[in-house]
Parts: sequence; C-alpha cells; structure tokens
Amino acid sequence: MDLQAKLAILADAAKYDASCASSGGVRRDSTQGRGVGSNEGMGICHSYAPDGRCISLLKILLTNFCLYDCLYCVNRVSSNVPRARFAVDEVVQLTLDFYRRNCVEGLFLSSGIIRSPDYTMEQVVEVARRLREEHDFRGYIHLKTIPDAAPELLQRAGRYADRLSINIELPTEHSLTRLAPEKDVAAIRRSMARLRVHIDDAKAQVREATAAPVVSLPRAKPARAQPAAFAAAGQSTQMIVGADATDDATILSTSAQLYGAYRLKRVYYSAFSPIPDASSSLPLAAPPLVREHRLYQADWLMRFYGFAADEIASARTGGMLRLEVDPKLAWALAHPERFPVDLNRAPRELLLRVPGLGVKAVDRLLLARRVRRVRSDDLQRLHVPLRKVLPFVVLPDHRPAADAPGALGFADGNRRLGFANANPSIAQQASLF
Ligand code: SF4
Repeated sequence: MDLQAKLAILADAAKYDASCASSGGVRRDSTQGRGVGSNEGMGICHSYAPDGRCISLLKILLTNFCLYDCLYCVNRVSSNVPRARFAVDEVVQLTLDFYRRNCVEGLFLSSGIIRSPDYTMEQVVEVARRLREEHDFRGYIHLKTIPDAAPELLQRAGRYADRLSINIELPTEHSLTRLAPEKDVAAIRRSMARLRVHIDDAKAQVREATAAPVVSLPRAKPARAQPAAFAAAGQSTQMIVGADATDDATILSTSAQLYGAYRLKRVYYSAFSPIPDASSSLPLAAPPLVREHRLYQADWLMRFYGFAADEIASARTGGMLRLEVDPKLAWALAHPERFPVDLNRAPRELLLRVPGLGVKAVDRLLLARRVRRVRSDDLQRLHVPLRKVLPFVVLPDHRPAADAPGALGFADGNRRLGFANANPSIAQQASLF
C-alpha cells in the first residue's frame, strides 16, 4: 500500500478523537536557524472542521488495526474497514514534510493496539523520539497513550510530548464494562495518576532550576532545543457522549472528579458518531451536536466560573442540560432568588453568575468599581452585552422591569424568553435509546 493510501485510511480513522487542542505548551521555536518548527506564536494555530473538531495538527493513527473490541470504535477488531499501518519512519517523514509545507503545526498521534500495549506504545514513543532527537523538531506533539502500557513507557512519552492524553472513553465504569470490555477503568485512572506525579515532579524541577542564578558566558555555544521536561501542556482526556444512556449530570460529575483528582488540562466531549456495522447496543443516531456544545459550556462554568457540577445539571432537574439555552442562563432562570444582582456591590463569585458577564468583563468591572459607581453606559464601554446582562442586574440608573427574566420565577422567566418550561433535551435524548 502506498503512503497516500495509508494516509487516507489512518487520517480518516483518527478523526473520531476530539482531544487535540494544544493550549499550555512551553515556547520552542527555530529562530536563529536552529532546529525545525515552532510550537507558539504563529506556530500552533487551530482550525476546526465543520463538525467542530480541531484539524490543525497532522492527526493520524500509527495503525487502525486493533486487538480490542470497543463497540463504539470504528477500529475495533471486529470492524470491517480497510486497515493500514505506518512504519515509524513514515510518520516522522510525513510530519516533517507537512510541517515544511506549512500544512500543520504539529503532530497528534494515536494508535490501535497491535501485538500488545507495550509494543504499540514503544512505536508511538519512537516516533516522538526521532522527531525530537534526530530532527530537532520543535513543533507541537500530542501523544495518545495506552493506559495498560508499562509506566516507563508513559514516562518516556512525557519526555518528548507537549501533551499526553489517556481517553476515559465513557463516563461510567458500567458503560465501559459493557461497551469496551477489554478496557480497565482502574488502569486508566492509575496511569492518569502516574502522569500527574511526573508532571508535578517536572514542574518542581523547573521551578528549582529557574530559581538558581543564571551565568551567561560570552560566545557560549547555544544549546540545542530541549524538549519539555515532562508533557508541559499537561494531560487531557476524552469522553464519548451519546454512545450510552448516561445523562449530562453524570458526565459532568465524572469530569469534575477527573479535574479534581488528576488536575487534567481538559476533558473533551465527543458526540458519538454512528459507525458502519455497529453493534445493536449502540444508538442508531448521533446525539444532537448542540449537546456536545452545552457540555463544553458547562465544563467552562466548572473550570472558570466557580460552578459545581450538580449546580449545572442534577437528577433533580432531569439530569440533562437544556439544549435551547446555555447552562449559565438556565441556572439563572432556575434561581430567581439570586437576582437581580447589584453590579456595584456584589462579590466576584456572584458577578460571575450573571448571564452575559464573562471572566474578563467581571475583572474589568471590579477595576472600574474602584474608581466610581458603575452605570449602564459604563457597561457599554466595558463591551458587556447589555441585552443579556440588564435583565439580571441593578445599577444606579437601571432596575430590571418587573417582568424581566431575572426578576421572575423559573416558569415565568422561561415564558418571557420564549422557552418551554419542560427540558426538551430529556425527551430528545431518551428517544435515542
Ligand atoms: S482500544 Fe482504542 S482503537 Fe482499539 S478498539 Fe478500543 S477505542 Fe478503538
């Protein structure tokens, strides 16, 4: 099989993995004629396919052969798809060629499991090693790691990669046992914990090194590019949404637990895509893509806005996020007792809960408040979306009307904004199973 044909198969097989964003890496570049590539500035730029997935990296599998039989995966052993496998050198050359032609800014490499987890991981690590050590490649590298592989291999992977990820795949142990019987949730979590320890150790070493005095020697030979001490962009994971009947409340509580226990950089949510010759245990249709979008918004609220998972979705409210409004507005409509908020007196935590106020806007508002009382025309100058914010806030020259959504109960607020009171996403999701 020629390289072009392999690329067509193995790039297509990789498109189901959403966890390829590249934020948080350490700056490396090839200015002054040293090395190849750069992972910052103009280096990593993200572009997104129409379905929302990042496609800026050369995103391929080493092989789509796999010994495992995860029912939701197009590469499973029982899948009837054309198979291909790259040699390590081929991936290295492809990455360099694509990079030189300015097509990609780095490499996202995953693989089906061939022979054994250790053998596969060795091949994946070897690609990264050759790129870094033999070609002085300074672009971004994200390696998908195999949780059952030996800890030494995961450690080696972290020496070369900017980011490592281990997919949790499904939000509950029960679903994983049912749909991916060879996967072991304990091994996944053990590997995440090991990566966490390595990342923390590496950061501590960097802190110690930077605290030491720097002696610069005139005419000293510049050192070659040093890879990040250990996965400087941290670790991430991906959860498939809609392959099982797990509700959003459970998905968000699993994410919160992963963020808390392993301090993951990101949890990616990937809406299940129906695959050819799928098992009857899987739904026939994909969940609405807006569900994936709402989960990302909810995830954002947990990481940057101080919301707990069960405030955003819980069994009390049917377990699903509303599809027709964003989760922050949904929370505000469900909590009229917290509104209207006085923008000149409320603490930061409460300001962050006002629909339409982002983190930057809140920080600008807090600065403006130090100088004088904020009025509605100040909000305009702070680039705050007035239409969204004003129904929920009080200012010296503004009180929300008695029938504003923020001043009404849940049912009336919904009606005022033109939404049904029932959560339609619950019925919509239930109909898939
Ligand atoms: S181990 Fe990975 S590649 Fe193999 S079947 Fe499962 S999800 Fe697919």
